[in-house]
Amino acid sequence: MDLLKERILRDGRMKEGNVLKVDSFLNHQMDIKLLNEIGKEFKRRFSDEKITKILTIEASGIGIAAIAAQHFDFVPVVFAKKTKSKNLDGELLTSQVRSFTKGIVSDIQVEKKFLTPEDNVLIIDDFLAKGQALMGLIDIVKQSGATLAGCGIVIEKGFQDGGATLREDDIRVESLVIIEEMENGTIQFRE
Ligand code: 5GP
Repeated sequence: MDLLKERILRDGRMKEGNVLKVDSFLNHQMDIKLLNEIGKEFKRRFSDEKITKILTIEASGIGIAAIAAQHFDFVPVVFAKKTKSKNLDGELLTSQVRSFTKGIVSDIQVEKKFLTPEDNVLIIDDFLAKGQALMGLIDIVKQSGATLAGCGIVIEKGFQDGGATLREDDIRVESLVIIEEMENGTIQFRE
């Protein structure tokens, strides 16, 4: 997706520890026009699937998933919560995720009633690094009995092993851009 590659090259900032900062357009300030194009591209890639629900994880995935859902006939978006709250009062599906950026392990949870065995679920997230976030979300889909159509990722860091591990497990992962290398101030995309 050339538009996204150009934007990463223009506005992305490389940080310590293989972190790419894209907070000026993706996960802090959000460029809605770009997010709309991202949503359109997810729809194009998953046009062979009848998606009934989009699942993501708070907080960064929510805006991306909500705009993408408009290209999937306005299906509901469910986001896994990272903190326990009195508002989560139904039966819960839970899994554990180690945060790539914060380094802490947190329980993630979704109320069982929001994912049913009739659902065909598309998981969406902003980044794929070591795959922990996706593995937690996939675990929750499995527990719910729903079908997993696949995962739509905005930016995959191909030099980290999450994408390869998931694809080896026959999980469909569609990443809009894959960064092959991110070193010495330059970013190389996978063709
Ligand atoms: P994983 O679980 O695949 O190791 O990491 C994915 C999660 O960590 C995403 O939900 C994302 O929020 C965060 N993440 C991973 N790598 C980066 C990065 O380079 N930049 C930013 N901004 N977030 C990242």
